[in-house]
Amino acid sequence: MDELHPDVQTATASIPAFLEELESWVSIDSGSYDKDGIDRLGALVRKRMERAGFQVTVYPQVEYGDHLLGIHTGQGRGHLLLLGHIDTVYPTGDVTRRPFRIADGRAYGPGIFDMKSGVLAFLTALELVGNPVLDSFERISIIVNSDEEIGSPSSTPLVREVAAAADAVLVFEPVRAPQSVVVARKGIAAYTLDVQGRSAHAGVMPDAGRNAILELAHLIVALQALHGSIPSVSINVGAVSGGGRRNVVPENAQALFEMRAANQQTFTAAKAAIQQIIDGNRHVPDTNVILTIGPIHQPLEALPASEPLIAIARQSGKTLGLELDMLHIGGASDGNTTGGMGIPTLDGLGLIGQNSHHPNEHIILAEIPRRLALICGIIRSLSHSIDYF
Ligand SMILES: [Zn+2]
Repeated sequence: MDELHPDVQTATASIPAFLEELESWVSIDSGSYDKDGIDRLGALVRKRMERAGFQVTVYPQVEYGDHLLGIHTGQGRGHLLLLGHIDTVYPTGDVTRRPFRIADGRAYGPGIFDMKSGVLAFLTALELVGNPVLDSFERISIIVNSDEEIGSPSSTPLVREVAAAADAVLVFEPVRAPQSVVVARKGIAAYTLDVQGRSAHAGVMPDAGRNAILELAHLIVALQALHGSIPSVSINVGAVSGGGRRNVVPENAQALFEMRAANQQTFTAAKAAIQQIIDGNRHVPDTNVILTIGPIHQPLEALPASEPLIAIARQSGKTLGLELDMLHIGGASDGNTTGGMGIPTLDGLGLIGQNSHHPNEHIILAEIPRRLALICGIIRSLSHSIDYF
């Protein structure tokens, strides 16, 4: 029944051109630190944004790839923001090592799933719905940024500025399950923990030393004990370093860890609990502890303000014969930034596939038409309801 839906039919007809363009995007290395590659890919994305009726402003970056802001001004009401990134986690040269290919009903290639296909999906959907739908918004903004995979250090101010004026935000990160979108993502706080002790000859004057590694070890055990002690909170100490020689009491030690939590309340509680551990008594006297926090992703919560947006997604899915799962997941995206500001945000609207950040990354071809149709349905519904948000 859903195959007969006109949006699915139109989307199906667009697939050959979609895949051809996607191949050209995936064939450009665009790791977060490959400014040259990102800017070359950005030029293609910009053309595509202009073709969809958007006026594009380039935000030049020195260190990272340039960011793109597209604006379509209509005669209607409401301001919709669409978000996507074109950087990947892969080093330059991966495109040559494992180029775009289609096999077993899947398309493979670096960044194809997360999330070059997502950016192309919403640009395609905007063209498919066309006017008068686009004109019945007061404004549609698109941000395509270049540094999401490293925490959006240079694009977050732009995302915040545009989102502050938006009524709703759609984020096109990929999802694994076919019938799903993402309504909530955990917040993440990244920490660096430095311990300073005192070095001494381990044989001649062992007690004159202050073992920084030992103090760090106690702190790690205490921090890790917070894992699960507050609902939804997870802690991971992911890297440790320190000392240098077996016969020297180590002067320095460092740990990198992160904390994740599902909502603002548990996020704040966990941050306070971490600080309390750091401020507590030292196991190794005379050691000094310095805790540095950042970057932080606020939790994206399924807030009451997001309910109308979630309802629209659900209804648009039903029209296509889909009962959408509303996922709560642990990984962060730029949706955390907009959701953390209290702007209704729906994420996970990108294409269906598997293995993001993995060499076997791919999208499922058979799922593309229905996904494009879902995006078209959501944009169309928003065009006559966003002013009630
Ligand atoms: Zn992504």
